[in-house]
Amino acid sequence: MKISKVESFPLKIPLRSPFKIATGESSFYEGCLVKLTTDIGIIGWGEASPSQRITGELIDDVLKGLERLRDPLIGSDPLEAEALWEKIEAELEGHSSTKAAVDIALYDILGKRTNLKVKNILGGHKDSIETSITIPIKGVTETLKEAGELIREGTKVIKLKIGLNPEEDLEKVRRIRELDENVRLRVDANQGYTPEQAISVLREMEPYQIEFCEQPVAEEDLEGMKSVRDEVGIAIMADESVKSLQDAQRVAQSGACNLVNLKLMKMGGIRRCAKISSLLEGAGIGCMVGCMVETKVGITAGTHLALALANVRYADLDSHLYLTSDPTKGGIITEEGVNWLLGTMGLGIEVVGEKELAEYA
Ligand SMILES: [Mg+2]
Repeated sequence: MKISKVESFPLKIPLRSPFKIATGESSFYEGCLVKLTTDIGIIGWGEASPSQRITGELIDDVLKGLERLRDPLIGSDPLEAEALWEKIEAELEGHSSTKAAVDIALYDILGKRTNLKVKNILGGHKDSIETSITIPIKGVTETLKEAGELIREGTKVIKLKIGLNPEEDLEKVRRIRELDENVRLRVDANQGYTPEQAISVLREMEPYQIEFCEQPVAEEDLEGMKSVRDEVGIAIMADESVKSLQDAQRVAQSGACNLVNLKLMKMGGIRRCAKISSLLEGAGIGCMVGCMVETKVGITAGTHLALALANVRYADLDSHLYLTSDPTKGGIITEEGVNWLLGTMGLGIEVVGEKELAEYA
């Protein structure tokens, strides 16, 4: 089997409401679906969701990156993926979301060729996983209103974006906990605090049963993150600090965190995330699979990864719910805060026809 065609379909989809975190705000998803066609007719789908801040790419970089990957991809056997990956790495530096798109599509092809779900190819650890639903940064009243709605809808895990205003962050946490004593609650500061601020605000959050705090301080400040971990009784998860195997090795050695957030887009795909999870497992560090803003192609791939590995204990795979429309059928369903996979092989997702896809451009 050889790859015979590489196609890209840029998408721009409005979000249901603006999404604000400590480092910025967005109201659109802008990404790209990638379609790999093989000479025996098997097709693989992948997705790139670039972010200048996280992956160092904009949509044009993805399209140019895919152009450069055409050469190593066309004529290569998608079942010899590790060899193909060496060629891809040699051709293109960085571009982690572009590579994620190709890698996801290669797994889709492998699954369809072998009649296996991607999650079973990778390990097959569980059948479903609870995902957090994220509340972006907004006022206290709006936050409580949204939390109340989510809890009424059956959401089991809320992830609250924090990091801009310690006093308000604390008030939101306290009042969500008053609203419901059982809902699981995690927070994500997206690098917004100094180590001193993080220690002080997280200590005050300790009584409210916080599962973990993601990336309390600047990504390069592992010493600061370690001081937060040492001083606070809430587990610390590294996100922006870990984008590669080398970063994972560094956080494992530094003792800066209890947990790491794996993301297909920032790490460059399923293969890389699985390798990083193994490295971290050896250091006793558990993982979550998180996401950027992605369509169901990316979120389905992330769910396959999360369901495959024992070391993945948490999921934050909810961003498909923010999109006003989605060009796919099947893949996953999210019901009462739990992600389930549909389909019987590959990713198990179908993408709408090319004419309809063009309307998303
Ligand atoms: Mg995060």
